[in-house]
Amino acid sequence: YMNRSLIVAGNWKMNMTVREGMEFLEKLGPVDGKVMIFPPYTTLAVLAGEFRKRGIIYGPQNFHYKESGAYTGEISLPMIKELGCDCLLVGHSERRSYYNETDEEIQKKIQAALKEGFSVMLCIGENLEERKSGQWKNVLRKQLEKDLEGLSADRIPYIQIAYEPIWAIGTGVSASTEEITETHRYLKAVLSELTGSDIPLLYGGSVNEKNAADIGSCPGVDGFLIGGASLKPEKFRKIIEVS
Ligand code: PEP
Repeated sequence: YMNRSLIVAGNWKMNMTVREGMEFLEKLGPVDGKVMIFPPYTTLAVLAGEFRKRGIIYGPQNFHYKESGAYTGEISLPMIKELGCDCLLVGHSERRSYYNETDEEIQKKIQAALKEGFSVMLCIGENLEERKSGQWKNVLRKQLEKDLEGLSADRIPYIQIAYEPIWAIGTGVSASTEEITETHRYLKAVLSELTGSDIPLLYGGSVNEKNAADIGSCPGVDGFLIGGASLKPEKFRKIIEVS
């Protein structure tokens, strides 16, 4: 009943061992359309072939922008390339807040990833105070301006944005369809101004199998980035079905 196909992306965060990931894929069954999963590194490495076989786009939740070196605990782009990943998640609000990831670092990561031929899903979003005070427009514009600085015209097709209001992530209460429509209209305009293109724009924040159809029918929503509901194959499958 929908005349367009939406991107359904799952962010597994620090969940899903290799064994759990394999069980998930078996329960999920065949998928068509644009499905993406961002697993933790270990599961990503072991199950890369399983994702590929099923036509699921897969990539890491984070990476370092340097090619190699003395950066204990980090993973580089050549390591990720070896796994056949297409798309990399960048700038998730949990990385920004728990690991103090700045827009400057995010910009470097995006430039490095694009140079290596990857595509990027950039997460942006305002906090509750910024939403309530009406500052959200400025906050979101600044994030886009800083994170996408230096973006060359030939790399624009490799960019996707996930709008994730921090106050709706993991809370069980998504933004309303009115808020999503208004914000996506604004972001599409800013993105068009910055890139001259219609950049794919996903919504994230408590998307589940019950609200996905309504959110997906908001103008300007090109897909979903899903945390909690991406861990349950039945829920994830239902979301894919309405997308
Ligand atoms: C996320 O963190 O990307 C997310 C959208 O989480 P949840 O779906 O659990 O709100």
